[in-house]
Amino acid sequence: MPIRILPDTIASQIAAGEVVERPASVVKELVENALDAGAANIVISIESGGKRLIRVADDGAGIPSSEVGLAFHRHATSKIASIEDLSRIQTLGFRGEALASIAAVSHVMMVTRYEDEQAGTRIRIEGGRQVGLDSIGAPQGTIVTVEHLFFNVPARLKFLKTESTERRHIAALITRHAMAYPAVRFTLEHEGQVVFRSSGNGSLRDALTDVYGAESAEFLLPILEDLPSDESRDDLPPISVSGYVSMPSLHRAGRDQMTIFINGRWVQDSQLTYAVTQAYHTLLPSGRYPIAVIMVSLPPEDVDVNVHPTKAEVRFRRADAVFTAVQRAVRHTVIGQTPVAPLSESVFWGSPDWEARRERLARVSRDHASQLGMDLSEMAPGQRPRQRPQSAEAAPTLPMLRVVGQVGAMYIVAEGPNGLYLIDQHAAHERILYEQFMAQQEQGHALPSQELLEAAVVELLPEEIALLEENLAHLEAVGFIVEVFGRQAALVRALPALVAETDPAEALRAALNEISVGEKPSGATAEEQLIARVCKQAAIKAGQILSFEEMQALTRQLESCGSPRTCPHGRPTMLTITAEQLARQFGRV
Ligand code: ADP
Ligand code: MG
Repeated sequence: MPIRILPDTIASQIAAGEVVERPASVVKELVENALDAGAANIVISIESGGKRLIRVADDGAGIPSSEVGLAFHRHATSKIASIEDLSRIQTLGFRGEALASIAAVSHVMMVTRYEDEQAGTRIRIEGGRQVGLDSIGAPQGTIVTVEHLFFNVPARLKFLKTESTERRHIAALITRHAMAYPAVRFTLEHEGQVVFRSSGNGSLRDALTDVYGAESAEFLLPILEDLPSDESRDDLPPISVSGYVSMPSLHRAGRDQMTIFINGRWVQDSQLTYAVTQAYHTLLPSGRYPIAVIMVSLPPEDVDVNVHPTKAEVRFRRADAVFTAVQRAVRHTVIGQTPVAPLSESVFWGSPDWEARRERLARVSRDHASQLGMDLSEMAPGQRPRQRPQSAEAAPTLPMLRVVGQVGAMYIVAEGPNGLYLIDQHAAHERILYEQFMAQQEQGHALPSQELLEAAVVELLPEEIALLEENLAHLEAVGFIVEVFGRQAALVRALPALVAETDPAEALRAALNEISVGEKPSGATAEEQLIARVCKQAAIKAGQILSFEEMQALTRQLESCGSPRTCPHGRPTMLTITAEQLARQFGRV
């Protein structure tokens, strides 16, 4: 084909693809416009997860009737006039692309009335073509209705996720903004029902309660502001960090509840997220993350906001200074306001606790083992495991092992016919439980579920509620009996028997988190994935001291597994060092 310049309509559809990736991107741009217009009230309504309809209504300044048509042109903005303005930007928007992009790939109607004008204006645009413009009575502010998103971009339409996934993204976006703008009242409606509302009274503490529920919000600490500043360095930009972070006793399985705003703009910055996690170093169990809502403010000229079409990333002039400020503020807050308790029962190599290890080992009782579902019958300490009955189907894939002991409160050391075995106690137990569960499921047995004495109310985020509604059946299949309970909570009536002892909130959140971000064992169904999750939660943890009997029982059960050498997610349960390798290392051969 010869080189040619693409017609405007195609060029704008291509450009639109950068800004509008999914329904949540439309909501993001419209909400940002409402905030830039100084709105105190923003109502977001969606239908079919935003695929059919998105409407954002605000009570901001509105657009003068003479400028309404212009607003939909590409690179049309009232927020900057020169490139220098970019370095002192105070607004969320500046690219002048959002309305043009949205209008290029949907049917848009805007009704707006400017604060100084009597009448409002209505404009309708379909696929980038203006199809109507008239004057109409309207309250001050702007209402943008976006229908049939991607009607003319079938490729994009195909890539959209399920309605509930899109709805979840939108809910997460709105709750984040409710926290960043506590003085603005946000209302999110789905299919005509209010699913989230913030009070908009200006208090961040109240906004956090609106989002996380009263119970969780109690575990959030305000970031201490009076940090000793590094006065000797006036070359550093003045950086202030505020917001809330969770006490070490409140944590989540995913990183997604660490929310960071730079000058009021939500950013995804893995460095800063890492700074927050770092601040909790040794305070949280491994694989757990805090809840954090962090507002960083610094002079606009120290941030480059123009690095990403959706403005989700920024660049700092002094990235290390920002990193340090965030990490210090969070650390200071967490250490200063909570009694620091060591992780229970955990032992690190070389720590003073390590000395006490033998003593503790002796104290671990047989009851403990039976709690873990281990059969200790006919096993005396130090005794070799009994010969396993050789059955045809259960062809052993592991030789008989002799347990030697435990190291680091994490690994079991054992001896086999051809050398040394180091068994990861957590991964091994996960494998054992997973195979037991799967065997039950294959025989058509429902997985054992245990009813709670008292049904537990678990506060959930709007996006978690959406996920829950979609997965009630899967959850039930593995033993969770749960109902949606009002707008912000779930009612847990029963838990999988294996994790019946754990906190219902923790168990449910872990399962939901697994569905949304977990890694599936290869070839597994959604239910198998959940089973793997339940097993992971129920399995003996790293850091737990095991008695000799427990170690023997665990090893014996592992020996009878079909795939004893990997956990359900494919990571190794054990390392082996052969006798030959040992001999070579010691220079014997
Ligand atoms: P940008 O926000 O980057 O300027 P947009 O395409 O999002 O670009 O919007 C174009 C212009 O339309 C804005 O600069 C603003 O003047 C006007 N505008 C858009 N939405 C609103 C709104 N909700 N209230 C008032 N003005 C708005
Ligand atoms: Mg904008």
